[in-house]
Amino acid sequence: MDLGLKDKIALVAAGSRGLGRAVAEELAVEGASLVLCAREARTLAETAAAIADNFGTHVLAVPADVTSVSDITRVVEAGNERFGRIDILVTNAGGPPAGTFDQITREQWEEATRLTLFSAIELARQVLPGMKERRWGRILNITSIAVKQPVENLMLSNSLRAGLTGFARTLANEVAADGITVNNILPGYTRTERLEDLAKMMAEKQGISAAEFSAKWEKEIPMGRLGEPREFAALAAFLVSERASYITGTSIQVDGGWIRSLL
Ligand code: NAD
Repeated sequence: MDLGLKDKIALVAAGSRGLGRAVAEELAVEGASLVLCAREARTLAETAAAIADNFGTHVLAVPADVTSVSDITRVVEAGNERFGRIDILVTNAGGPPAGTFDQITREQWEEATRLTLFSAIELARQVLPGMKERRWGRILNITSIAVKQPVENLMLSNSLRAGLTGFARTLANEVAADGITVNNILPGYTRTERLEDLAKMMAEKQGISAAEFSAKWEKEIPMGRLGEPREFAALAAFLVSERASYITGTSIQVDGGWIRSLL
């Protein structure tokens, strides 16, 4: 299937590693040019160079923190300057800290809101005018399975990603007639550095090995294994493609069957 992504320009936020990087790579395979941002300049530059070398595509790397409005402005302006437009926006950021309601401070709520909710809203705010003008656009938010089935001990993620889902569903209707789709993709337990670090940390706390701890996650997943970033990225590439032109306002999980609900 030709996804129609050749010559499209995609901004992938938090794209230096993990799920963001996997999405960037899949889009590069399909021939899209990329604008990547992440906080750490060195990792970002390495990722951008590797993608450009491996897939022969144009990659612009702009170090930026997505919690900063001025950083987002810099990224969008740099993308527009280099490529003339941004057709596709994939929002992403690091996950907010774990914890129950009693453990989370007011400051942590505010920081997490900037990271998980406002970053996606601001990115959308800055790319939408151009998409509307050209009457074509794709916005895809990376959220979490927590949106359909809250995960224990993840109060911030469960709450703020639900807020982002409400925003995206509302925006989808507001921009549908402009040829712009807005969707969310929900990763389940997927083997990224973050998940491996988390397994190590949790395992240490429980006095078991990281492999033993990962086995606990795998037991909850009908497929009996963690997901691979490429399996996640395949759906992301489809959802931002020309071929997904009539799909908007959806939230689709890539979770090996972890979410138990009907819809
Ligand atoms: P990761 O830690 O491997 O990668 C996160 C990326 O975000 C990195 O490139 C990092 O540089 C960048 N980043 C972090 N904070 C940033 C900021 N303020 N500004 C710009 N860039 C920033 O994480 P991942 O596993 O790829 O997860 C990506 C998102 O998906 C996270 O929000 C995570 O909570 C969510 N998620 C992941 C899983 C999973 O199993 N991997 C499951 C559910 C939800």
